[in-house]
Amino acid sequence: MTESADLVLVGARVHTLDPGRPHATSLAIRDGRILAVGDRAEVLELCGATTEIIDGDGLVVVPGLVDAHCHPLWGARAMRDADLTEATDLAAACRMLAEVAARSSDEWICAHGLQREWFADAPQGSMLAEVVGDRPIFVSFRDGHGALASPEALVRAGISGPRTFGDASQIVCDRNGRPTGELREPSAMEAVRTHIPPLSAHRRLSLYRVQLDRMARLGLTGAHVMDDAPGDLDDLMTLERDADLAVRLVIAIWLQPEMDDAQIADAFCRAGRAGRRWSSGAVKFFLDGVIDQGTAWLHLPDLKGDGRHANWPDLDRYREVVGRAIAHGLGCATHAIGDRAIHEALSAYEDAGSATAHRPCRIEHVELCDPRDLGQFQRAGVIASLQPIHIAAVADDPDHVWSDRLDRTRAQFGWPHADLLRAGATVSLGSDWPVAIQDPRVGMAWARQHWAPGTTGPGYRDHQVVSAYEALVGYTRSAARAVGDYARGSIAPGMCADLTVFGADPLTSSPDEVPDLPVVMTIVDGSATYRASHV
Ligand SMILES: [Zn+2]
Repeated sequence: MTESADLVLVGARVHTLDPGRPHATSLAIRDGRILAVGDRAEVLELCGATTEIIDGDGLVVVPGLVDAHCHPLWGARAMRDADLTEATDLAAACRMLAEVAARSSDEWICAHGLQREWFADAPQGSMLAEVVGDRPIFVSFRDGHGALASPEALVRAGISGPRTFGDASQIVCDRNGRPTGELREPSAMEAVRTHIPPLSAHRRLSLYRVQLDRMARLGLTGAHVMDDAPGDLDDLMTLERDADLAVRLVIAIWLQPEMDDAQIADAFCRAGRAGRRWSSGAVKFFLDGVIDQGTAWLHLPDLKGDGRHANWPDLDRYREVVGRAIAHGLGCATHAIGDRAIHEALSAYEDAGSATAHRPCRIEHVELCDPRDLGQFQRAGVIASLQPIHIAAVADDPDHVWSDRLDRTRAQFGWPHADLLRAGATVSLGSDWPVAIQDPRVGMAWARQHWAPGTTGPGYRDHQVVSAYEALVGYTRSAARAVGDYARGSIAPGMCADLTVFGADPLTSSPDEVPDLPVVMTIVDGSATYRASHV
């Protein structure tokens, strides 16, 4: 007699995303894999004495949702005391800070998620002192490009005036040369951050666990981590010693322009590490910055004359390292937002043989793409990795496109989601959390409609919206393909049992309804990482 299933789910609606059998009502799982997909009778045959049977009436099963671009470990550390991305305005953020200050015995308060739009005038660190008194406070902006430090935090960091940095960083000072508390770009932020007492390993790991559990509750079975800090991989190893990760992670190892050959070789070595539910196999490049700050690399300068420079000052070096990574069997992910950056990344990938590479090459964000380059994604086998929630930044005010840096004609080429699909590209979807909110249901809503769920348009560039099915594929099958994973992303016998179970159908729910879809179960390797209390 054959072995019986560990778990069966019967009488549900199963969207398999498997062209061979797109729809079914029931499935069976054994040893972390899909044993069978079919109708109730076929699956019940596989039940034994120990099989758990779940009545799927009213449930909808899809392949496990994957956030194809996020920063869960950095995010966990940045918002160790408060997640201000949950706040809707400055007053709400201040209330959250006051609450954590009241209950935290730590001297420093660290939070993340301020929005620049919340400040009518230049942000002042003294505002933080009004909220929590004389304690040192460090709060980063949601875009990750700046932070606000309280006067006491500046004192602890020994900052009393302007400083010169090797990058575009700035300690913002008033007319009298006194720092206001605003810190722009990484080096200025580091000048304060290095004075914050480090988290204990225990606290750090528990913050990671909290975030991974939160992601499982959102229905996420996997995430692609687009950064790495020293010690991250060791931390994941330690976490897995205690228990399985709630979310499967693929980590891209960050390569920086100033790294020499020995450092690149060391990074390639780290990219070879893996645990049970985490692996790397990929490296990450930042080829440019963002349009709003004038740091995106554009074919033609923006309206303020910016956008002329790459983040890798020596393009040949970037191309050489891409070639080496591909020859090493690694996938490459390049942050490229401006049309020139996207063009050069595509060209570097293609010349290095991306079309036949061992692991996929991908471009992160693809915000402003020259229409002539769209077909290149498919030809060079390059994944387009988009974060539809970023459209929220421009959708509220279509006249205020990317801080007025782009003329209307060029702004028309933003977020070419539908055009990329029409050009045959594989488009994976993600959130960029903690830069934007993470909920994949909200991400699917923004992919399907370019204005905030629950409001009315007109929104931004409606002709680039995609269907409910295409949005789901972006968060499942295409996200799996973006890291060369062919064992997940659809539901068929032999595939890994990473599944998301909803209480309603994402394919028939409207974009306004999708953010409220109940997540009933999240299943990784055949085991529930989240289960609503009624199941
Ligand atoms: Zn990112």
